[in-house]
Amino acid sequence: MHIFTGVFLVALLLTTAARLWLGNRHIRYIRAHRDNVPQEFAPQINLSAHHKAADYSSAKTRLHMTHAVIDALLLLALTLGGGLQLLSDWWTGWLGDGLAFGIALIVSVAVIISIIEIPIDIYRIFVIEARFGFNQMTPTLFIIDLLKQALLATVFGVPLLLCVLWLMARMGENWWFYVWLAWVAFNVLVLAIYPTYIAPLFNKFSPMENPELKTRVEQLLARCGFKSQGLFVMDGSKRSNHGNAYFTGFGAAKRIVFFDTLLSRLEPAEIEAVLAHELGHYKLYHVIKRMLWTFAVSLGFLWLLGVLISKPWFYHGLNVTTPTTAMALLLFFMITPIFTFLLQPLLSAYSRMHEYEADRYAVRYASASDLVRALVKLYKDNASTLTPDPLHSAFYDSHPPATLRIARLQSATQN
Ligand SMILES: [Zn+2]
Repeated sequence: MHIFTGVFLVALLLTTAARLWLGNRHIRYIRAHRDNVPQEFAPQINLSAHHKAADYSSAKTRLHMTHAVIDALLLLALTLGGGLQLLSDWWTGWLGDGLAFGIALIVSVAVIISIIEIPIDIYRIFVIEARFGFNQMTPTLFIIDLLKQALLATVFGVPLLLCVLWLMARMGENWWFYVWLAWVAFNVLVLAIYPTYIAPLFNKFSPMENPELKTRVEQLLARCGFKSQGLFVMDGSKRSNHGNAYFTGFGAAKRIVFFDTLLSRLEPAEIEAVLAHELGHYKLYHVIKRMLWTFAVSLGFLWLLGVLISKPWFYHGLNVTTPTTAMALLLFFMITPIFTFLLQPLLSAYSRMHEYEADRYAVRYASASDLVRALVKLYKDNASTLTPDPLHSAFYDSHPPATLRIARLQSATQN
């Protein structure tokens, strides 16, 4: 057996085992704490809501675990199982080995992976979300969403792919740097047009209307020094009962988006506190910082691909006998996640740090006790578990565990 085949198999096995082990720990921890609402939440969250959160989180985690196994089997089938080589031979017979071949190979693999994801999505939405009373999506809307996503992937993905494959073929040894420039330009473009042109394809966005709320919000925006033309309500209730708020875009396209589901459940003072948190993300440059990190890391990865692309063992170790640039791209992006899995806790910790920073910002401009009340309502309404396994949470959670986050906010109210 090829040495690289062994390295790949060990990494795949360890990553999959770790994902299953973490999921299993999480489910056991939640079950062990199922009958006790953490004391600090006891007044607002009753036992039946706590049970619902436990069962909902366990069901979602079980699905993640199944997903991890499907991912691993699919990766094995495409690489060592000979799937990619088979597709490559088939397309070469039709198209030779030029740009059309590269596009056909990559698009066909993307289509296969997406088709395998469909039943998982169906199960998540129409079984799990429905069982816990969150789903609002109809089968028709599900199909329309899929078609829109496929259309968007074609309109944006194919030209990007064409550009990347062309640069790889024409730019000599340093192609990876030019591909990186194209990748950065593409991301900035998507980020700039996403709020105004892409998100509206899926949801309706209307300016916030409620006069009492508007006055409060405008006062808050003035205190924070934020230009006010970017406050929108989104019809999230079209697909799900989960409530949320987020910050998106930059420059003139920047906006804060509230789900209608969130506005219907929170009091104006609580909405103000949530908005202050979202403003914190903007004022503390979280979006930009994250983007710069992503660009720096992707430059490193593209450089690495530039090294690997000329190494025969990289292809042979993954059971590919006809190396092409398109195949190198595919192999690299398919196997990278199993080697970078251990970076996940760093990414999550970085994100949680930003959440704490945004909370600290929020309590400077709005009331900490309103933010606490809003968060507890959201935990309850979204059936988020209050008792995650600490290790699972450290690995995956982009937001701090409820108890720690509330404790920090409460110490802020006492100061
Ligand atoms: Zn946040």
